Amino acid sequence: MSPEPELRKLITGEQIAATVGRLAAEIRRDYRDKNPLLIAVLKGSFMFLADLVRRLDFPLEIEFVRISSYGGGTESSGAVKMAPGALPKIKGRHLLVVEDIIDTGLTAAFLLDYLGRKKPASLKLCSLTDKVGRRRVLINIDYRGLAVPDKFIVGYGIDRNEKYRHLPDIYALEQ
Ligand code: 5GP
Repeated sequence: MSPEPELRKLITGEQIAATVGRLAAEIRRDYRDKNPLLIAVLKGSFMFLADLVRRLDFPLEIEFVRISSYGGGTESSGAVKMAPGALPKIKGRHLLVVEDIIDTGLTAAFLLDYLGRKKPASLKLCSLTDKVGRRRVLINIDYRGLAVPDKFIVGYGIDRNEKYRHLPDIYALEQ
């Protein structure tokens, strides 16, 4: 048996709440009259999405996609997979992709390319965290939360083998 990994707190729940508040204010300013479709990437962004949309006081719709470039490990495999599932008609819609973390950028690049081909009226990206130093493809994060160091993070929806999603703070996992 390998020893339990150690958790080191990186971002507190209060810091997360302040960041979500700031991002929500930016999104309110830009989308108030646009009835946007928010597309959240499961499972990691479920908590962020839930907190974010409670601060958006205008009509919007929500969809989820399952997509990932990680297997069970802590390193991106580089190969992005998307579970087949139905999205509503997105031609002509204002789309906002909601992510928990942008790491290499491969997942977001794949999803933005996929959605962009369906001719939305607009297409933007919001991410709670940004692992800036690890980018392998150029990605513009329109609504960017917090920069995080090159550590494997968990908590606030983000897992390691399905554990730690329920934690209200974000931790670095020290192996
Ligand atoms: P990318 O394609 O940008 O490399 O990775 C995006 C996805 O990888 C995220 O949505 C997330 O699921 C996963 N990921 C990237 N970095 C981390 C991390 O530090 N911790 C966890 N738990 N997942 C991560």
